[in-house]
Amino acid sequence: MIVLLPLPFQSHINPMLRLGSILHANGFSITVAHSEFNPPNPSSHPHFSFLPLPDAVDVTLLDHSPNSFFRFLSDLNTKCMPQLLHRLPQLQNENNVACIIYDSMFYDAEATANQLGIPSLVLRICSATFSLVQTKLPDLISNGHLIIPTTQEDQDQIVPQLHPLRQSDLQILTNPDPKEALQLYSQMSKITTTRGIIFDTIDCLEQLSLEQLRGNYDVPIFTPGPFHKLAGPVSAAAGSMLWKENTDCLKWLDKQSPNSVLYVSIGSAIAIDVKEFVEMANALADCDQPFLWVVRPGSVIGISDVNEHLPEKMKKLVADETGCMVEWCPQVELLSHMAVGGFLTQCGWNSILEGICEGVPMICRAGWEDQVMAARYVCHEWGTGVELKGNSLLLPLKRGEIEKAIRKLMKSEEGKEMRKRAADLRSKVEIAIGEGGSSSTDLHALLDFISSFTS
Ligand code: UDP
Repeated sequence: MIVLLPLPFQSHINPMLRLGSILHANGFSITVAHSEFNPPNPSSHPHFSFLPLPDAVDVTLLDHSPNSFFRFLSDLNTKCMPQLLHRLPQLQNENNVACIIYDSMFYDAEATANQLGIPSLVLRICSATFSLVQTKLPDLISNGHLIIPTTQEDQDQIVPQLHPLRQSDLQILTNPDPKEALQLYSQMSKITTTRGIIFDTIDCLEQLSLEQLRGNYDVPIFTPGPFHKLAGPVSAAAGSMLWKENTDCLKWLDKQSPNSVLYVSIGSAIAIDVKEFVEMANALADCDQPFLWVVRPGSVIGISDVNEHLPEKMKKLVADETGCMVEWCPQVELLSHMAVGGFLTQCGWNSILEGICEGVPMICRAGWEDQVMAARYVCHEWGTGVELKGNSLLLPLKRGEIEKAIRKLMKSEEGKEMRKRAADLRSKVEIAIGEGGSSSTDLHALLDFISSFTS
């Protein structure tokens, strides 16, 4: 048996449960130990067992600021770990627990597993590149390699040893005060008894970062991604969603022509202000392009009814079905629909991988931290997207910028080139997950590694 310990947020639950499905398909039984806050839905995963950890975490600690997230994580770790320590021995008595796979933000799980005498592996749900940045950040700061860029030239300077990341891509980590982030990154980067690190990534996407990371750690690093492809269609699409999926939008998509629809989503975590929401609505209304826009409840700060802020022309487009607005959609399925021709995304790592796998070019409106770096990879390294200049939600966009980006991606020659490169990238990923490819080889290595704990 393998015990999984996912962090209770959508972008963490998805890869962990997908990994669980892969491991289950390869003969392991799976128990998901989870907090009471945002619990996974057992009925979506009838083949798993679930172990609730009564925790009473303080959700009032969570607002939309990164610092509140750090405090929440600390509370979650403090409250869940004693529960794990208390509940696991019984499970151990009844089953042969091969290992615990914990989310890296459950940074106290390593010590807990060690105390229980159970081997552990850590799942890092971000890109390998962001993980590398986390390990290097303290040195970069103390060596003066990170500057506060004031000119465009400063902003575009490449950060030493982190090509192609620029000074502007790392600014979000250090400005205004990096203290709490640094503390979290150091807790997450340190490994003492954990036996290995797992990433949901593919070697061909992040070769240089992976090489550096592999040089930094004494334990093996496994990259059997993208999990949602290796986990098979059912578990990838019908996961444990925290919001109800609207599947009618798939019927709306069926009526659209190939590659015509722009899919717009800012994911499960970030929120935007009303000004940006209205700017987005105007851009979608004016760009003369069918769109499918996910507006998650609570994703516009301070607003309970977003309809009150929608421009009339936008309401009309939705009413005559030129566009479609939903609160949550089956994203993996949607991205694979032939009508979807572009993805305006906040650049969460799951979304990036899901888009890459379907060869969908992107418009990057990165929200925070790792998303800014993922946007850089999309637009510079892989050349499969357009970067919105504001680049992070901390920086406001200029008027008309979204509309310009949409036209570029969906209508220009440059956009066509991006679509071609996105198709090439998808082919590379298909090779990686095929027999003998890097991801399937790494999966076999991971399975052998875990099996070795029990033999
Ligand atoms: N997602 C979804 N439906 C939506 C929006 C998002 O199923 O309407 C899923 C998406 O497929 C992805 C996850 O939610 O697996 C979001 O994770 P991501 O890493 O993109 O980042 P975050 O939500 O933390 O910004």
